Amino acid sequence: MRYTTIASGSSGNCAFVEGKQTRLLVDAGLAGKAVEKGLAAVGVDPRTIDAIVVTHEHIDHIRGVGVLARRYKLPVYASEGCWEGMKHAIGDVPEAQVRLIDPNKKVTLKNLEIEAFPTPHDARAPIGMTIDDGDSRLGIATDIGYVTRGMGRRLIDCQGLIFEANYDPKLLQTGPYPAHLKRRIASDKGHLSNPDAGEALVKLCDGAVRQVLLSHLSQENNRPDLAVHTVASILTENEHAVQLVGDGAVALEGVLAVAEGRALPWPEPGAEGRSGARTEQVRLSVAPRYEPHPLEEI
Ligand SMILES: [Zn+2]
Ligand SMILES: [Zn+2]
Repeated sequence: MRYTTIASGSSGNCAFVEGKQTRLLVDAGLAGKAVEKGLAAVGVDPRTIDAIVVTHEHIDHIRGVGVLARRYKLPVYASEGCWEGMKHAIGDVPEAQVRLIDPNKKVTLKNLEIEAFPTPHDARAPIGMTIDDGDSRLGIATDIGYVTRGMGRRLIDCQGLIFEANYDPKLLQTGPYPAHLKRRIASDKGHLSNPDAGEALVKLCDGAVRQVLLSHLSQENNRPDLAVHTVASILTENEHAVQLVGDGAVALEGVLAVAEGRALPWPEPGAEGRSGARTEQVRLSVAPRYEPHPLEEI
């Protein structure tokens, strides 16, 4: 299975997932043209997309849904609450393209099996999901106030994750947002902080997870290096070996290696980690805000 983010964050979210002959968008929170441009940048013709799955009705997840659904005659999968919440915002989508997702049931789309789960977020019936092509499984969980037990049970069997690391608690508290917005973001129905993402990932990486694309970073209350630093530090403190990917990863390795005066494990791929550490590495990268991340493969 291949996957990536086309854009990520409050200015627009869109993920691309490909399993064998099936291609999906999860959310389309950018203008239709911007989604097409992003897909082209990773070598995907939008005419080859089979469906859009929508996580919730916030505008940063639905901006291009109506346009793309009409232009490419795509079925749109969403929970009933999400459909209610977004139908006035996305324009007419022919009834035949409306697909309701029940979080307790699996949906089969060609060879992909999609299983939604409810997420704690201030939307109408928000969902995350696992997507399975028979060989591997991807988990998508962004816009989550916290990681519920139910979500943990579902995500732990995934090899790859698109996973939220929205804010740094200090930047949020000292930042420019009004108090009510700070409370909303930090609440159980808001977004996931970097340290909370790290703590959850320690457990998930004890399971099948080997690749994590940190996503939906706040522009005002986070920075890519800070998100990676926090999550990688928590993972390494808990004996997981981390492989950093992408721009800034090399510089960040140096930062991490001297963090709190401790030597941290940076084994070469395939090499053994420090004694006591797990030998399998967790590949960690950050979804860029405005551009596609290179395709990942699980
Ligand atoms: Zn969002
Ligand atoms: Zn949201």
